[in-house]
Amino acid sequence: MNTAHKPSIIWLNVTFFLGTFILATVGVTWYGFIYGYTSAHWVWLLIAFMFCGMSITAGYHRLWSHKTYEAHNFLKYLFAIGGAFALQNSALHWSSDHRVHHKHVDNNDKDPYSAKRGFWYSHIGWMLREYQAARYDDYRNCRDLQKDKVVMWQHKHYVTLALVTNFGIPILLGAIYSDIIGFVLVVGALRLVLSHHTTFFINSLAHVWGTQPYTSKNTARDNGILAFLTFGEGYHNFHHIFEHDYRNGIRWWQFDPTKWLIRSCSYLGLAKGLKRVSRYRIEKARILQTMQTAQGKIFQLPNAEQIHAVLEQELQNLIAKLSECDELKTQLIKSAKSNVKEKYEQALLRVKIEQLDLTLKEQRRRWYSMINNPRIAIN
Ligand SMILES: [Zn+2]
Ligand SMILES: [Zn+2]
Repeated sequence: MNTAHKPSIIWLNVTFFLGTFILATVGVTWYGFIYGYTSAHWVWLLIAFMFCGMSITAGYHRLWSHKTYEAHNFLKYLFAIGGAFALQNSALHWSSDHRVHHKHVDNNDKDPYSAKRGFWYSHIGWMLREYQAARYDDYRNCRDLQKDKVVMWQHKHYVTLALVTNFGIPILLGAIYSDIIGFVLVVGALRLVLSHHTTFFINSLAHVWGTQPYTSKNTARDNGILAFLTFGEGYHNFHHIFEHDYRNGIRWWQFDPTKWLIRSCSYLGLAKGLKRVSRYRIEKARILQTMQTAQGKIFQLPNAEQIHAVLEQELQNLIAKLSECDELKTQLIKSAKSNVKEKYEQALLRVKIEQLDLTLKEQRRRWYSMINNPRIAIN
């Protein structure tokens, strides 16, 4: 393989990822066979894994990278410490990379972990060579975060925080339970490797494995299994199109504990201003994507042009109705926020939305039956 043109290897990262992986697999197994583990090892592994994971998902990702809600300082400090424990660089650096990823998704020259450069590259390869050297300290896309005291505190003390948490927590637990090596292996190495690779899966697997219900303009996929491993981040197709929504899994049955955490925090007064995309906009994206996917099937049918024209007309009517509902809903939210006593106007808007919802329901049913069986469009 010709590697002459490739940037130089970052030996610190290579050694670190390899070393922790060997400790987490060979080390943990070997020690387990000889000395064994207790339930305390596994319970603390789970707690530490959740602390790291949720600090990344609710903190680094949904709070700082995308500003989907505002958090109390207590929560911010917790995420800053948990993020350092997860050892994924500072929140400022992580968010900067992540914002570039969203802005230039799948662009092999600009997306720092472009899935189009292959699974290995998007998973871990991008961190093993000096691919990012030119823009490493460029945080111009995070000027807002540079004004956040907690973000800058963590950025300044990142190495200290990372060392104190990664050695301090396992050693402290080991001292309490009289098994320092066992806890360093399980809560230190194994937790770190699990936390790293499940997060990395979002850049790799979540861009190749799963469905695309909302858009096929980028490689991001929705995947329930990945959501289970990543505290809800597996609904990545939805996330890439609606990145400012604090939810990733929007259905009640979708596993998104990060969303549940943020919502719970809002009940406790620790989070506010939770952003949600209106259901009409979500539905619009879904319907457009269904049409996009169905095109191939439609054009294989006899009378394809005619069927397509009818479906396209139905689609436009449906989109117009969804936009109208969305507009009214926005008006309703705005008028509810204003202190003006416009109760009457609000009640009218509500009634209008309810009526439109009824016709929308019928229109939607007709359109879906046509798209599932396009022949009936011209019968
Ligand atoms: Zn992505
Ligand atoms: Zn994101």
